[in-house]
Parts: sequence; C-alpha cells; structure tokens
Amino acid sequence: MEKIDIKSFNEAELLEFMTALGQPKFRTAQLFKWLQQGVEDFDEMTNLPKALRETLKEQCYIANVSIVKKLVSKIDGTVKYVYELFDGERIESVVMKYEHGYTVCISTQVGCRMGCSFCASGLDGLFRNLTPSEMLAQITKAQQDNGIRISNVVMMGMGEPLDNFLNSVKFLQLVSNDNGLNIGLRHISLSTSGVVSKIKELKEYNFPITLSISLHAPNDEIRSSMMKVNKKWGVDELLAACKEYQDVTTRRISFEYALIENVNDSDACADELAKKLRGIMCHVNLIPANPVKENSFKKPDMNKIIRFKERLIKNGINATVRRTLGADIDASCGQLRRKVKEGMCSENLQ
Ligand code: SAH
Ligand code: SF4
Repeated sequence: MEKIDIKSFNEAELLEFMTALGQPKFRTAQLFKWLQQGVEDFDEMTNLPKALRETLKEQCYIANVSIVKKLVSKIDGTVKYVYELFDGERIESVVMKYEHGYTVCISTQVGCRMGCSFCASGLDGLFRNLTPSEMLAQITKAQQDNGIRISNVVMMGMGEPLDNFLNSVKFLQLVSNDNGLNIGLRHISLSTSGVVSKIKELKEYNFPITLSISLHAPNDEIRSSMMKVNKKWGVDELLAACKEYQDVTTRRISFEYALIENVNDSDACADELAKKLRGIMCHVNLIPANPVKENSFKKPDMNKIIRFKERLIKNGINATVRRTLGADIDASCGQLRRKVKEGMCSENLQ
C-alpha cells in the first residue's frame, strides 16, 4: 500500500481522514498542528494516543528534507542548503537575514522544464514536482536548524511554481493557516517566468501575495532569445495579464530584471522597459546576472547597472539593485545543487 502524504492535507482533508479512522474532531486539530509545525516523527506527538500513532505510522508518512550540504556566508550569515528528499532527489533553499526578520527562498520543483538560457536550474530539465509538504519542510527545517522563526518566504528557488500550480496554491493555503506556520500571505512572494494561463488562474484566488515576474527584457526579440516561455506568451500578453492580476489583488507587482552585458543592459532597453511598465503599479528589481559555468554571459559593471536604474527612475519607474547576500558562497538558482552533484563542492562546509 502506498503511504499517504499526510502533511499535504488541509484541515478539511485531514478531518475526513481522521473521521474515517473513527477519531473525534479535536484529534484532527492536534494532528494538524504537529504536522504543520514541523514535527518529523509521529512518536513526538505526545498528546495523541499510542494506538493512533501506530495507525498513522502504518498508513502515512511525514514528508521531510535532510541536509546534504550547508554553506554559511562569513560576510552576512546567509545560509544555503542542499536538501535530499525521500527518493534521493535534491533541491536548494537559502535563508537570508534582513532587518525585518528571516526570509527563506524555497524550491518548488526538482529541476525545471522552462529552459531559460541563463539559469542553472533548468539545465537538466524537470525531474519532478514538489509536494506542498516538501515546500513546507524546507521552512521548518531551516527554522529548526538555525533556531529561528522565518517571517517571509520567497518561492524563487529551483523550479517554476506555476508549472506546479495546484501544489503551490495548496502550499500557500497551508503555510498561512493560523494553526500552521501562520506566515501571512503578504509576507510571501511567488516568482514566475510568465506562465500567463496560470497567472490568470492564480488571480481567481485573490491571494495578497507579491507576484514577482522574471521579465529580464523589454521586448519579444530579446526575451525570446533568453526565455522559451516568451515564444508562447509574449511581453505584451504577459504585461496585460499582470495588469489584470493587479486590478483584482491591488498588490504591487515586482519585476525581476537580470542584467546581462550587451544583451539587455542598453539605454534603449531601459527606456523601452519604462514605457512598457507605465500604468502598472510596480517595482523593478535589478539583479547583476550571475554567471553560470555552462554559459558565456557576463554581468555589466556596476556603473552600467546604476545607469540603467537611474534611467528607469527618471522615467517614473521604481527600481532598485538587489543587494547581494552570501557573495562568498555564491551559487544562484540551481548552481549549488549541480556543484554538489558533480562533487565540486567542498569549500566552506559546516
Ligand atoms: N522559475 C521562477 C522562480 C525561480 S528562478 C522564475 O523564473 O521566476 C528565481 C529567479 O532567479 C528568477 O527571477 C530567475 O530569472 C533568476 N535567475 C535564474 N538564473 C539567474 C542567473 N544566472 N542570474 C541572475 N538571476 C537568475
Ligand atoms: Fe525555471 Fe525560473 Fe530557471 Fe527559468 S529562471 S529555468 S523558469 S527556474
């Protein structure tokens, strides 16, 4: 019998399951709390009767992640993890400290099938989707390992969250539950390469999360050369979907723009971008592109980056250059996992 992923159950599903086992309602609340707060073993659920714990052990499993590699930045304390899942697959997660608390960047898939040219996560394609419970486990493991409470979550690690739509939605519902980790949706960002059909679906949930769009280019010519997804939904269609999304949620949209030398960093690009974003309440996050060893691109020098930012601001668009955290353990999106896989990673280990 295949075991049940009980940590992915919402309260209604858990109630149905427990009722079928003949359990009273209050047991569901107890169990839900234990699961959501990150207990990894049924035997630690001390207020549940032993017989129930035995039944749960027989029928269910608690999704967990185990630490394979941990790198701690000596500069700012940023922690990067490579986690192993029950089937041996590996994912990445990063914990960052800001003035307002701790933020964790979680993965939503093992690998990614979107194939953006600048990204290490997609180099080997998609292996599988993560379950809601595996997304949650990245947060609880980081809390336990560091003895901290995470206050913010960004879905910006490996994978395309909107290509794992229902699991990502369920994760959002679980992580913000009062009886669970209770992380407010306003403290969560979901980053997408621009899967327009799913942005439209997500709008219907009206979650007050921050939608973050990996735009990276102001027009189809440049964007399609970097991102396959743009061949299906072009820049104008994507921005129209963002506007509709904003009309419903009233939330500011965040646009990610990784600057790559001589690709998307010209004055003309900045001007075109500003023009395209007019009418959307937004913020542009400029990211000096992180070179990936499999690619040949470079990031522009800082002067060029500042120039791009100022040009956007002059044109009325809010823009900042993203602060680099963990520069000494630098391994963006998917790079660390590959290094571990290739046996290249032995430095800075804790
Ligand atoms: N799949 C989602 C979320 C994960 S990628 C998305 O694409 O939005 C997280 C962010 O890292 C995205 O904005 C992505 O474009 C960016 N990114 C990926 N590789 C990068 C690189 N080499 N340099 C800078 N940013 C990169
Ligand atoms: Fe996937 Fe995002 Fe990387 Fe593109 S940038 S390959 S969508 S993880």
